[in-house]
Amino acid sequence: MIDQARRILKETFGYEDFRLQQEQAITQVLNRKDALVIMPTGGGKSLCYQIPALIFDGLTIVISPLISLMKDQVEQLREYGIDAVYLNSSLRPEVYNFNVRKVQSGKVKMLYVAPETLMMEKTREMLKALNVECFTIDEAHCISEWGHDFRPEYRQIARLRNDFPNAVCLALTATATPRVQDDIKTMLKFDDSEEFISSFDRENLFLKVVDKKDPLNQLLDFLFTRKKQSGIIYCFSRRQVDELAEALEDEGYSVKPYHAGLSDGMRAGNQRAFIKDDVSIVVATIAFGMGINKPNVRFVVHYDMPQNIESYYQQIGRAGRDGLRSDCLLLYGSSDTQKIQYFINKKKDQEKTVAENHLKQLIKYLESLECRRKPLMNYFGETYPKEECGMCDNCLSVDDDVEDLTIQSQQFLSTIVKSGQKFGATHLADVLRGSKAKKVLENEHEKLSTYGIGLEFSKDQWMQISKMLLRQGYISKGEYGELKIENSAKAVLDGSENVFGIMDRSKTSLEGEAVVRTSSEIENEYDEALFDLLRLKRKELADEQDIPPYTIFPDTTLVEMAYFFPQSKENLELLYGVGSVKKEKYGDTFIGVIKNYAAEHGKEEKKKSIAVQARKKTGGEKFEIVGEAFNNGQSIALLAEEHGVKDMTILKHLKDFLDAGNDLRLDGLLEASNLSLRQRDQVMKSFKKKSPLMLRPVYDDLNKTIGYDELRVMQLYYMTQDR
Ligand code: ADP
Ligand code: ZN
Repeated sequence: MIDQARRILKETFGYEDFRLQQEQAITQVLNRKDALVIMPTGGGKSLCYQIPALIFDGLTIVISPLISLMKDQVEQLREYGIDAVYLNSSLRPEVYNFNVRKVQSGKVKMLYVAPETLMMEKTREMLKALNVECFTIDEAHCISEWGHDFRPEYRQIARLRNDFPNAVCLALTATATPRVQDDIKTMLKFDDSEEFISSFDRENLFLKVVDKKDPLNQLLDFLFTRKKQSGIIYCFSRRQVDELAEALEDEGYSVKPYHAGLSDGMRAGNQRAFIKDDVSIVVATIAFGMGINKPNVRFVVHYDMPQNIESYYQQIGRAGRDGLRSDCLLLYGSSDTQKIQYFINKKKDQEKTVAENHLKQLIKYLESLECRRKPLMNYFGETYPKEECGMCDNCLSVDDDVEDLTIQSQQFLSTIVKSGQKFGATHLADVLRGSKAKKVLENEHEKLSTYGIGLEFSKDQWMQISKMLLRQGYISKGEYGELKIENSAKAVLDGSENVFGIMDRSKTSLEGEAVVRTSSEIENEYDEALFDLLRLKRKELADEQDIPPYTIFPDTTLVEMAYFFPQSKENLELLYGVGSVKKEKYGDTFIGVIKNYAAEHGKEEKKKSIAVQARKKTGGEKFEIVGEAFNNGQSIALLAEEHGVKDMTILKHLKDFLDAGNDLRLDGLLEASNLSLRQRDQVMKSFKKKSPLMLRPVYDDLNKTIGYDELRVMQLYYMTQDR
């Protein structure tokens, strides 16, 4: 039967493979054994009941507390060509009755229902006459008083199970505390049941915490490079929400507020506008988010501190459900801590102790200097298996993009000096790149000795250098944006100090800091202009039908289209999220857009090969390919050449390879090191003294005299030898 499930996964939903716990949970349900599924938001809980529902002959009832979500889920299913209906108090009587008749006719496989509707006598009478095969309880933590969202109606669901002794029961939640889990199982009388718990790590979320200094400007910097993206900004108070929403609107952002002080109509309208991509940003209190399963939320910002780790994790969990890289930024200010403390002080006894403990844990997370995933996963009772995730600010600060930028910094600084400290970064970049812009010639800057010496860098890259020097305090900005030299810059100019920094070659994130690219080639290299066109087309189709754009295709699918340029339905179907129904319904339209674009820009279709798919799934990951080639005798330099990447990237792959339990060829590592024997010895001692796991402490320990590339090589050497 699992084969049939797999076929449906591919045929209907367009996905290549099950996620780990999905397959097990589905097997369990198909064997008619109860199951408790615990996965983080975006983990893929829905398929755990949707696929069995399609296989069972009879009806699957899905109990869900969120009315808005029901509509959304049913709309999504219809796009896959699956007929499902819902019953709740928001429906007009004639629609309600129509839906009831549809269920009675046996034509629908899934019925979504609100708990209070389910408790109604007439609903139960109706259901008794039907063949109910599966009872799914979504947001099952609502059953537990220990959950953060207890609902008394949920308690009665347990009783209802008796009416359908033959139906298998599936409970789903994203709440992981053992107490809640136990409660769910007891209440639902699960005995022959099993639990399926997947890791709470959400790999695609980039986690970042910064000191809150000038919040509005920090936020504007962050948003600047995210102009078209969807995101949520959480604030502490309603007033703050209103003010911030207004400020962002003044800056030209498409934004709406959301909090409990707004009328119901206004809230619903703003939420709908967000879901339909009519507005990009929602500024909200914690009231916002339940019932949003928009998959392409690209960022979540905490403008104020969240209350505790659990709510923080739930809130950032709303980002990146589609699996694409998404950013989570938290502005951390000490006055926020005091605010939370103030509310805690009003509490008493046990409640106060619990809240204080929560705050402590949160602060521990915020101030952590190690990989942020460690304290976070720890909180959920998991041990994070890696030393570095490469997707948080702490990992990034010792990450592979740190380079020696001394020469470029000297060139930039000396251009500032030679032009009299009167010009901004754009002009300086023009000079360095030998531009013939009017302003350059007017000031006779083509006569400067640094004129045209910086052609190897793009204008954008020079802007990055400028930002980096600002950040590191070597220069400052005057009233009109003119750049001035600070005292510390002298040491750089006379060559006594080196500058290390992170350079990004395209996108900036907060304060212009580099954005780590994901490991996915597709995500890094897709055609953004085509992606935008596809998005427009999707929006147009969605508006025609009054459905959210993501129900047509998620962003992930559009990204793949903009990478592979498929020009036949056959090739389109190979892409993520394209099942047979959507292929027929939308295939021609999207292929039309792609064909036009490809013709106009001379782009070739790339066939998504089975190899690419296989690599995406599991084994054959880049680091394995690189690691094995290295151990077979290839040098790091050659591998870098072959893969078209920097040495550091290869070293990073080797580190992953090592972390995965493999050994590395020691002579190959030494070959890659340019250090003297004495330096090697110093580095090894320092690794021993500090820790071999992190580069930063060793870098500091050696007074920043040895660059990260070299340290990484020695780290690999140390770790391999140490086994
Ligand atoms: P949850 O209910 O756990 O928050 P969803 O069921 O909404 O998560 O799934 C999150 C996203 O992941 C959806 O866009 C879904 O289509 C996608 N997804 C689920 N399972 C898979 C899979 N096996 N392969 C690829 N994408 C999947
Ligand atoms: Zn990390």
